[in-house]
Amino acid sequence: MRVIDHFINGEHFRGQNKNTVDVFNPASGEITAHVALASAQETEIAITAATEALNSWSKTPPLKRARVMFKFKELLEKNIDELASIITSEHGKVISDAKGEIARGLEVVEFACGIPQLLKGDYTEQVGTGIDSYSVRQPLGVCAGITPFNFPVMVPMWMFPMAIACGNTFILKPSEKDPSASIFMADLLKQAGLPDGVFNVVQGDKTAVDTLLSDPRISAVSFVGSTPIAEYVYRTGTHHGKRIQALGGAKNHLVVMPDADIDQAVDALMGAAYGSAGERCMAISVGVVVGDVADVLVEKLIERIAELRVGNGAINEPDMGPLVTSAHLEKVKSYIETGIKEGAHLKADGRDTLVPEHENGFFLGGCLFDHVTSDMTIYKEEIFGPVLSIVRVDDFDTAVQLINDHEFGNGVSLFTRDGHTAREFSSQIKVGMVGVNIPIPVPVAFHSFGGWKRSLFGDHYAYGPEGVRFYTHLKTVTTRWPTGVKGNAEFTMPVMK
Ligand code: NAD
Repeated sequence: MRVIDHFINGEHFRGQNKNTVDVFNPASGEITAHVALASAQETEIAITAATEALNSWSKTPPLKRARVMFKFKELLEKNIDELASIITSEHGKVISDAKGEIARGLEVVEFACGIPQLLKGDYTEQVGTGIDSYSVRQPLGVCAGITPFNFPVMVPMWMFPMAIACGNTFILKPSEKDPSASIFMADLLKQAGLPDGVFNVVQGDKTAVDTLLSDPRISAVSFVGSTPIAEYVYRTGTHHGKRIQALGGAKNHLVVMPDADIDQAVDALMGAAYGSAGERCMAISVGVVVGDVADVLVEKLIERIAELRVGNGAINEPDMGPLVTSAHLEKVKSYIETGIKEGAHLKADGRDTLVPEHENGFFLGGCLFDHVTSDMTIYKEEIFGPVLSIVRVDDFDTAVQLINDHEFGNGVSLFTRDGHTAREFSSQIKVGMVGVNIPIPVPVAFHSFGGWKRSLFGDHYAYGPEGVRFYTHLKTVTTRWPTGVKGNAEFTMPVMK
């Protein structure tokens, strides 16, 4: 059986630790590989490699660092088919969706290509008489990224292109559920001319994560995953004096106002709730229907869910593929049981979905709950599967209050034809990413990505201008070149004279 290794100091690295976990093809249910789990000592070997590469890389001119990013972008474009099929074979998402994920990651690489401009500092002449000041952004040091299963290419690319372009070295700890893409990207970076040790991959679990969070040679950690682990990473990393950004889970609402185009809202709900089998942090999992359009909307959704094409993401482009593991499938099914017990109306039940010739795949068809209320578990918790809950409310203010009271604040969307309602919504809503007639408002690479409340721990959002701030220290240098001035020791706070 194939063993998926680490990538350290420019080479594939086979550790001594015999611990591995199974990697599945979710469409067939078969084990396709074992992934190595790094011990603390093996993780430290990667940290040493990244530490040794730092001095030279951090001094490499930004323009040369940008050229590596340009080459990496070219190689990604050339290899997009192979990378997409690697994603699909371990995650299960449909090939076109896997290509979409790569394209959104590529945007960040394109942004990172502009790093010479982004790192340009500020200069002020005469901050005092004969005194000038300039501010520059310098690399932090060795940075680490810990990433979730649902975007094995895009989420790492939210991190490492920015970190590396800013002059840091990097260690990626990908999800153990779909680890192969990380090694493929490491190979492409090497081909792009990235010096050995600047980008490393450590496969692993909590042991590797805890080593990255406590080793004094690591300056910063970016995390994306579930909220309990995000909070743990934030607390542990900051306790060890590191800069941390930890993006967590979500429960994203889409509000349908009575004046909205109902067919457009139905299209939006279908794609955003069931695309990628609901395994997106920006998936819509709650439809909030305002006023009296709920009956019509629910009927249309039931019809559309019945037409959903569920299948192997690698064959014939279905609408959605399987869930990532059988354990995750069981977890999502248990939420459906809970929803029924708590009194929500199950209007579409995807639990009997069978995909011919894929009887052992981890498939679940689209599920729809109506009459969900805010005290139900299926409303409060993130399910992370193809399960959409409909909450009926009387008016706009109740919809806003409902969303603002929720624990998570990642993404939200409003469907309306009224500009005033849209403006009020965008202003009042306590959520980081807002869409108006846009179901999944993931910011483009030259803005930044992040949620509010328990969807993000830390001060900086991912990629874009926030990424530059996260991966750099600000330094301000104040200079004077006096000639012939002596005996002017000053014992008071310097002020402008
Ligand atoms: P997860 O939290 O289980 O795992 C994320 C990473 O943490 C993985 O690399 C995993 O190996 C590691 N990890 C898991 N348990 C750990 C532990 N006890 N100690 C240390 N490290 C541990 O998340 P997942 O299931 O891979 O991904 C799905 C979650 O990620 C969902 O909650 C989703 O909303 C979230 N997510 C959020 C965003 C965002 O931008 N906010 C984006 C994508 C995914």
